[in-house]
Amino acid sequence: MIDIRPIPAFDDNYIWLLSRPGHKGCAVVDPGDEDPVIERLRTEGLTLEAILITHKHGDHVGGIRGLKAIWPEAVVYGPVGEPIKALERRLQGGDRVELSGLGVAFDVLDVPGHTEGHIAYYGDGALFCGDTMFAGGCGRVFSGTFEQLSDSLIRIGRLPPDTRAYCAHEYTLANLRFALVVEPDNRALQRRFEEATALRADNLPTVPSVLANELATNPFLRCDRPQVAAAAEARAGRPLRSAAEVFAVVRRWKDSWRG
Ligand SMILES: [Zn+2]
Repeated sequence: MIDIRPIPAFDDNYIWLLSRPGHKGCAVVDPGDEDPVIERLRTEGLTLEAILITHKHGDHVGGIRGLKAIWPEAVVYGPVGEPIKALERRLQGGDRVELSGLGVAFDVLDVPGHTEGHIAYYGDGALFCGDTMFAGGCGRVFSGTFEQLSDSLIRIGRLPPDTRAYCAHEYTLANLRFALVVEPDNRALQRRFEEATALRADNLPTVPSVLANELATNPFLRCDRPQVAAAAEARAGRPLRSAAEVFAVVRRWKDSWRG
């Protein structure tokens, strides 16, 4: 099993570092900034073998050039459906990425919605989902559609429940505060908020999260549940006919929510 550790960047990004004890090579996911990655790899004596990109936003791709300048042999993987010049291997759903040095392989999933060509990497019980799903929440709809993001989250929700989800931001407390507005009586959500509050008070990451916990507490993965649908219908002031419609209402609700 590989080690997966966060390298904090900017205010609230996590760049994920993949390494294996006894192996000098490593990989990173979504390096928005090269400086913290260079510092960490030098400290640990690691060599960069691969860069995995989930989508085109600058806080996910901004460090590629600086890392390639130091480790030109590192292979840059990313979504075929997004305009990212630095990519060397362009991936789409159904593709597989083998990182033989680390002894791990990832299946590529198409998870559009936050952006039009967003992909995720799934393997070894881990999901690198970028800005598609967050702990307790999901990404905004920028260059994809609400229908796409709803469908992507439904498909993520069908992965094994013990999947560990490594999202790209520490947004958990704000997400859970909003989730409690949608589902104030959800006991699992109340407990999760207390646990996350304690972790953040000690400046510890709340990520990764376990998919089963997302399914129990994340409103964006619960749009088919009566409690979430009822809250969305009350918000919209009209009946909603599908989980996708519920999703769109809850996502727009969160966009305008100032907790
Ligand atoms: Zn993004």
